[in-house]
Amino acid sequence: AAKAAGRNTFRFYDEAMNRHAIQRLALESDLRRALGRNQLELFYQPQIRTIDNGLAGVEALMRWRHPERGLISPVEFIPVAEELGIISELGRWALQKASRQIVAWRQQGLPVPRVAVNLSPRQFDAPNLADRIEEIITAAGADKSWLELEITESTAMQQPERFIQILRQLRQRGLQVAMDDFGTGHSSLAMLCAMPLSVLKLDRSFVEQLPDSETDVAVAGAVVSLARQLRPAVVAEGVETLAQQRCLASLGCDMLQGYLYSRPLPAAEFETWVRNRLAERSST
Ligand code: C2E
Ligand code: MG
Ligand code: MG
Ligand code: MG
Repeated sequence: AAKAAGRNTFRFYDEAMNRHAIQRLALESDLRRALGRNQLELFYQPQIRTIDNGLAGVEALMRWRHPERGLISPVEFIPVAEELGIISELGRWALQKASRQIVAWRQQGLPVPRVAVNLSPRQFDAPNLADRIEEIITAAGADKSWLELEITESTAMQQPERFIQILRQLRQRGLQVAMDDFGTGHSSLAMLCAMPLSVLKLDRSFVEQLPDSETDVAVAGAVVSLARQLRPAVVAEGVETLAQQRCLASLGCDMLQGYLYSRPLPAAEFETWVRNRLAERSST
């Protein structure tokens, strides 16, 4: 009986693995077609200046609207796109879409100062990355100062010399670069000093426990004072509560991003959010 049960268990695992593999294959083939089928979207999340509560900019975050599965998170499909070798196409699309969007907003008179677009580590391997990025933005009719590129600290530290080289090329072309998820990678101070960054984005994991965790208050404060010396502005990610907002503002953090202000929204809803906020601010 034990032997039979063992065999059954084995077969169960076998089938489960099979099902998983089939689902994964389906996801892969769907993802290859997603771009051509117009299933990718950018959602937008505001970044708020602490000094005057004004809109400093917006981060573009990719979503996949799957016909059967609904909205799929980038956490699920970006790694698959990287493995499939199609992340550069997706990245190019996102930059083009975001550039066109900010041009449209400005034409409508919507005061969105800049839009940040995430870059994947795999996009770094492309030759002439800075030229290609510049071309896409210019072709969309956008000013380069309206765009910001976000690169995670761990990506930057995978090939720090290459990162610094690309960073210099981007800066020479008038582009701004933010280091995303700061605090989760392994930057050395020497590397950080050599990096002409515009923004450091303090990772959400350091914001979560504010203001109760003395350690995290110290870390957030240290990042702000480090940035003061090295010049980039600090954006805190994942701000959800008023207590976190107050704590980060008192530490001198320049900008805040998180559900407290808004979740990432589709373009049209983001526009409404901006207009409502403007109306509220002018009526008080
Ligand atoms: P990220 O660039 O660090 O983006 C911030 C993530 O935190 C977003 O998740 C955002 O929705 C979420 N978030 C914002 N505020 C809060 C908050 O108050 N609380 C909590 N719990 N979460 C908050 P999302 O949109 O699921 O994106 C996840 C990651 O996927 C991004 O992390 C980024 O690494 C990647 N990603 C998104 N869009 C793109 C893209 O166009 N290209 C590439 N290469 N990666 C992307
Ligand atoms: Mg980001
Ligand atoms: Mg981040
Ligand atoms: Mg993140």
